[in-house]
Amino acid sequence: MKSATFRFYAELNDFLPKERRSRDVPFAFDVSPSVKDVIESFGVPHTEVDVILVDGLSVDFAHRIGNGDRVGVYPVFETFDVSPLVRLRPQPLRVTRFVLDGHLGRLARLLRIAGFDTLYNPAFSKEELVRASRDEERLLLTRDVGLLKRSELTRAYYIRSTERQDQLEEVVDRFDLRRQLRPFTRCPRCNGRLERAARADIEHLVEHGTLSSFDDFWRCDSCGQPYWKGAHQEGLNRLLERLARRDEI
Ligand SMILES: [Zn+2]
Repeated sequence: MKSATFRFYAELNDFLPKERRSRDVPFAFDVSPSVKDVIESFGVPHTEVDVILVDGLSVDFAHRIGNGDRVGVYPVFETFDVSPLVRLRPQPLRVTRFVLDGHLGRLARLLRIAGFDTLYNPAFSKEELVRASRDEERLLLTRDVGLLKRSELTRAYYIRSTERQDQLEEVVDRFDLRRQLRPFTRCPRCNGRLERAARADIEHLVEHGTLSSFDDFWRCDSCGQPYWKGAHQEGLNRLLERLARRDEI
């Protein structure tokens, strides 16, 4: 029996049981497996991994583990400078478009309200989610670890938070999207673009008198849904302002 030692860094530890976090973990084998297979056997999706060092040298996912190897596994966007190393992705994930799994409907609405192009359809199969991510270069957001293990996926991220406002903050922080926030430019219902509208354009669509105390109106160019700034948006406005402001610090 041969053995190697694995150590996972930073957020990758979210996928490990406590006793395996941030420490050397032994791995025993007979036939040399690929480093990708071993990483996923620990429960860490390959989509979360950006750099792998074996005895200090960077390797790609296909690297075969040898007896006595010491393997360090680093997440996407780890802040230390890895520019001379083999990045496992051809270019940085400057992603502004998303596709979300069927459990993240509330986050999908928030991302749209924040202005991000967000594909969401609770009826999508896993294959359709993977295809949308690959073909349309959308970052797949999911809480399904199994889905992240699909080898065709190169843009995917496991959402840690369970509350939707925390989830939005997590995504904006993790992918450094503060400068890309465009609040109230997309329809939360269908992802269409919102256009400014006059009171007269939408008055006939809502109950008489509803709009009397409002001044700012929009309409979705895709589904036609009318919108206006109402008191119920106060909390949302505060969240979006807070997210945008953090960029200036
Ligand atoms: Zn719409």
